[in-house]
Amino acid sequence: MSTIKRAIHFDFHTMPGIHDFNRDWDPEKYAQRLADANVTFINMFAQCNLGFAYYPTKVGIPYPGMKGDMFGDLLNECHKRSIRVAAYINVGLNHEHARLHPEWCQVNKEGQILFGDRSKNFFRTMCYNASGYRKYLLDTIREICAYPIDGLFTDCMGLRPCYCTKCTDDMLARGIDLNDEKAVTAFAYEKILEISKDFYEINGPDRYLHLNGVPYWDCRQWEKHIEVECLPSGGWGYDTFAKQAAYARNIQDTVLYMTGRFQASWGDFGGYKGIPSIENDCYDAILSGCELSVGDHMHPAEIEERDIYRDIGLIYGRLMKYEPWTDTARYLPEIGVLTDNPGYLPLTYAGVARVLGELKYNFDILNIEDQTDWTRFPVLILPDDLRISEALAEKLGAYLKAGGKILSTGFSGLKPDDSGWALPAWTFGFDGADPSNASYFTFRTLPAPETADMRWSMYKEGIRMTAPDAQTLAYYWKPYFNHGWDGKHGYYYAPPEKKTGHAAAAIAGNVAHICFRVFEAYYNHSMKTHKQLVEQVLKAFLPKKRLYTESFGSTARVTATGNDAYTLVHAKVTFPEIRGTHGVVEEHVVQPEGSQVGLLGEYKAAYLLPDETPLPIAHEDGYTIATLPRFTGFAMVRFDR
Ligand SMILES: [Zn+2]
Repeated sequence: MSTIKRAIHFDFHTMPGIHDFNRDWDPEKYAQRLADANVTFINMFAQCNLGFAYYPTKVGIPYPGMKGDMFGDLLNECHKRSIRVAAYINVGLNHEHARLHPEWCQVNKEGQILFGDRSKNFFRTMCYNASGYRKYLLDTIREICAYPIDGLFTDCMGLRPCYCTKCTDDMLARGIDLNDEKAVTAFAYEKILEISKDFYEINGPDRYLHLNGVPYWDCRQWEKHIEVECLPSGGWGYDTFAKQAAYARNIQDTVLYMTGRFQASWGDFGGYKGIPSIENDCYDAILSGCELSVGDHMHPAEIEERDIYRDIGLIYGRLMKYEPWTDTARYLPEIGVLTDNPGYLPLTYAGVARVLGELKYNFDILNIEDQTDWTRFPVLILPDDLRISEALAEKLGAYLKAGGKILSTGFSGLKPDDSGWALPAWTFGFDGADPSNASYFTFRTLPAPETADMRWSMYKEGIRMTAPDAQTLAYYWKPYFNHGWDGKHGYYYAPPEKKTGHAAAAIAGNVAHICFRVFEAYYNHSMKTHKQLVEQVLKAFLPKKRLYTESFGSTARVTATGNDAYTLVHAKVTFPEIRGTHGVVEEHVVQPEGSQVGLLGEYKAAYLLPDETPLPIAHEDGYTIATLPRFTGFAMVRFDR
């Protein structure tokens, strides 16, 4: 459900010494500029990561020489133009107060409050448990929440263990061993959750709240929306959004793709990646059932970079034409992927998102504690490292009984102590962890006639399993040697030697297992046959997938969203090219005339949006298929029931 629509996230972190600070500030003019740029929501700076406030605070330190109430005046002018405003406050960083109150800082294991690269941001962080900081912070949040804001965005809430005097005293009083880093980290995490709850209580249940950096699942009762922070060019990379969005959209109704206009990362005043690149991210948001947010950094004296807002107006203006249909449409997954991670998912899930995205399967990522009915997914995937606890075994047992199908890979499917399969439905023999670190596999049936019939590297070994030949999809091969050092030689060259009677992949009834960590291997090496091995299982489990596509490459993403009246098929053909160190989108890809998208089921008609141009359709093999004209970058097709 679309509620925020088109946001701008303002970074506004101002070093001391801007002699003409807010010289050209004109809240009326600026709010009008936002309205003209079709912006509906902003994260507006109340206090930055330097710790300066942009309103006349009684608790903190306003930026020296600031004229007026920047925050309050813009809030007011935005409200006049129906632009909603969430207050931004950095709670993890506050360099000005840290300097004045070193006892408010986190202390690292070496006893330092200053560490790492001091020309950046994270060389000094704040302790929520330090009494002085806690009081100052909550008083500040109360002051900000007294404004008629629409929400609160609390930044830089990453998990960092703290050895400050207060944390040390509290931990010792509780009997926590300070040599136990895990226990110290767990204590710091507890303090993050405590302060998150405090923020929620001050902000109230009706306003937006995003606790940036707190794992989505663990703060789900307090957050009101999730912003998936992902500057594709700033350390996150283009593989971050798909996995995080697939998880976030099951936890909160409103999820934003928080990209940025920057070419490098936050704070890049002179970096701008251009219209096609921002549009690419907006299309990724829409096809994932998410909304849009573009990050910007205001100039401290001149305020706006005019042409950026000209371009955002253009981009948001084009996208809002789709909203009559996207506003009530929800993402339609057909595969569920389970995780026991509460927040920022490991790279295995980036591999899952790649494999399923490239194969055009819609999927959601679900926490193992998710209480919804999993039988809405005909297939569940347990990727690479998900051991099955007793509670999960019970749920999965019921799911299988109801006819669901499960693909597990690597160590997934095992009991938590790796002593064997957790459920009897895994009928394969279990032969322990793979003793080799250079294993290979061959296909029983080649996935395509042109596929080389050779021994393929696994790259990320898992377990050894056995299965009757009739159930085997791929055979396991051991190498002559492991990679390693024997005292004389470094065994870098480890060719395949022979089959051992083990299966690399097998399928029995409603359960399939691939013996190696295929998803992380795919993320690291992108080998097509790994994806094809997964596809062989999915084709067996789901002979008719929801989406039909013709003439779309593996670089394209095609998804479905919808409601009771219609289904929207989104096709994005633009994709980033790695240029040097990161992905770049300089222009859109043009898709030639004649490509096709289709949906399983009977639909009466199909229209190209937003102009509602009728498209020729055909009914074939249970699918309704529409043929597309030539298009640039992105196409959205509405199929009417
Ligand atoms: Zn502390």
